Amino acid sequence: MSRRTIVLPHGKTVEYDLKRIAKKRYGIRINPDNHVTVSVLKRTLVRDAEAYIRKNEQFILRTLEKNERRNAEHTLVPDLTEMQTVRIFDREFRLIRRFANENRASVQGEEILFYLRDDSEEAQNALLCLLREKLFPQYVQSLCQRYYPQFAQYTQGFPKIRYRQMTRSWGRCCKTKNEIVFNKRLAQKPADCIEYVVVHEFCHFIHFDHSKAFWQEVEKRIPDRQQIQKKLNNQ
Ligand SMILES: [Zn+2]
Repeated sequence: MSRRTIVLPHGKTVEYDLKRIAKKRYGIRINPDNHVTVSVLKRTLVRDAEAYIRKNEQFILRTLEKNERRNAEHTLVPDLTEMQTVRIFDREFRLIRRFANENRASVQGEEILFYLRDDSEEAQNALLCLLREKLFPQYVQSLCQRYYPQFAQYTQGFPKIRYRQMTRSWGRCCKTKNEIVFNKRLAQKPADCIEYVVVHEFCHFIHFDHSKAFWQEVEKRIPDRQQIQKKLNNQ
């Protein structure tokens, strides 16, 4: 594999990995972090590979732009001091500020009372993390309730839901214990990623492995699960 640079017909400079493979056909892969990989047949000349890339300029530009927009949206820390409402997972809350020397937040129905020791981005970010942690179990619970009817015939009643700090996986399903464990770290992930993990774990009540049949069950409910999976593991 080699790292190269190309200037596209309309002027954009793109860096990419050129991968020469034995069989397979030509392909361009763009990861959510905008890492570009171009695969060509083993003895393809760089000149021909470049012609192929230029021919696909529109696709490349469109995808790069889409990723940039999405990444910018996600890293943007909202300014809580200027906002009336804040959206956390699937709920919208009214923000009420109180003054105190510490960062603290309490959720009361549709309102969030928050205290910020200063208005720095860091303090606001910490508060948002705290809120997400707090509201995470409710969000997971509501997703489980929404999806449960589709899996009821494979479980022994509504499964036990638990939360744990895990290092290797986002969730675990134990059919014999009728239990799903979710990684607490999921709380800081986008809502659609959390929904994907819920569906993934529920599908393990039907198929315990990651067979083709398993992924078909997941994709029936989350058609773009591959993209969501990438997002989940890249952010
Ligand atoms: Zn799994």
